[in-house]
Amino acid sequence: MHHSLLDKYMKGYQTFREKYVSGNTSLMSALSANGQRPTTMVIGCSDSRVDPSVILQCDPGELFVIRNVANIIPPFESNGGYHGTSAALEFGINYLNIKEMIILGHSQCGGIHALVSKQLNDQSDFIEKWVSIVNGDIDKENWSVDDYAKQALICSYQNCLTFPWISDRLKKNLLTIHQWYFDIHHGELFIYDEEKKLFRTFE
Ligand SMILES: [Zn+2]
Repeated sequence: MHHSLLDKYMKGYQTFREKYVSGNTSLMSALSANGQRPTTMVIGCSDSRVDPSVILQCDPGELFVIRNVANIIPPFESNGGYHGTSAALEFGINYLNIKEMIILGHSQCGGIHALVSKQLNDQSDFIEKWVSIVNGDIDKENWSVDDYAKQALICSYQNCLTFPWISDRLKKNLLTIHQWYFDIHHGELFIYDEEKKLFRTFE
């Protein structure tokens, strides 16, 4: 690793240590003693520009974060595959009892772009198949990549309902699922209004 990069990480690490580790009553030692009790689970994209903890300025222990290409929730499948996102969902919902879930989409998503442009076809080992999970409505005229990213959020939400322990908790009002969309250029969050069927500003 290049020295300047290592220096940057070292400085960041020192700041982290000062903020969360030093002293007798540090946040990290409390989280270690009491375990994690995150209130909110976020399913976000791996995109380096959309880190949920940075956007929402949350501390360690606050957000249970799942990140994958295009912040997709796959449908419930009981076959023998390796279901990383589903395993994380199960852990957050069934073991940590998280009651608030945010599916966080964003503008300029490379995964959604791959889905709609089909540029990666025949080249990708994993991406094409993964993003095809949300390809339900792929041929809308005049739709931008960002329009599809918003549509994909709704698809992921519907896939949530195929998990029996998620739909059960929704029916009992033990869980709320939010669909949020982050515009990178303006650094602005939008939340989906279930009743009005549109995204409105966060504030
Ligand atoms: Zn993305």
